[in-house]
Amino acid sequence: MKRICVDMDEVLADALGKLIRLYNAEFSENLTVHDMWGNWMVNVLPPGRQDRLMSYLQEDEFFEDLDIIPNSQRVLERLSRGYEIFVATAAMEFPKSFGPKFRWLERHFPFLSPTHFVFCGDKSILHADFLIDDMPRHFERFAGQGVLFTAAHNAKIAAPVRVNNWLEVEDLFFPA
Ligand SMILES: [Mg+2]
Repeated sequence: MKRICVDMDEVLADALGKLIRLYNAEFSENLTVHDMWGNWMVNVLPPGRQDRLMSYLQEDEFFEDLDIIPNSQRVLERLSRGYEIFVATAAMEFPKSFGPKFRWLERHFPFLSPTHFVFCGDKSILHADFLIDDMPRHFERFAGQGVLFTAAHNAKIAAPVRVNNWLEVEDLFFPA
């Protein structure tokens, strides 16, 4: 059975959406993801507010209640019948995220076994046929096929294999 590793933030879990909500609430702004398309959110904020993003991410509960990226549950469930699925998240930057991320996965992806949740730092340790991720750097030393999942920050980066959403993931692995 071929093996697929799936990233969490911006692929299964909408962390950016929550950052935008928190930022808009604090500063009475109306930023949307379109305002940062092709950019990192931090780079479109005034310099004096950029540090707030890191503070939000370091809050104990930040990763507890992220929205689910549309169609990820259904398509991943379908993929799990023909592929071995691992969820691999680079969680070491935010150690407080371990518990919230684990509970979020159990809650929203109950068809996946917790034995296949991987909390890692450097993803080059992963050994799989495919890695679906929004960060191109994780593909550099990955031996399998990288599949770039579109997020605002990578929207203008060239990628050999890109998917814009989970319906395109479905088309890629289950061609008509
Ligand atoms: Mg990610």
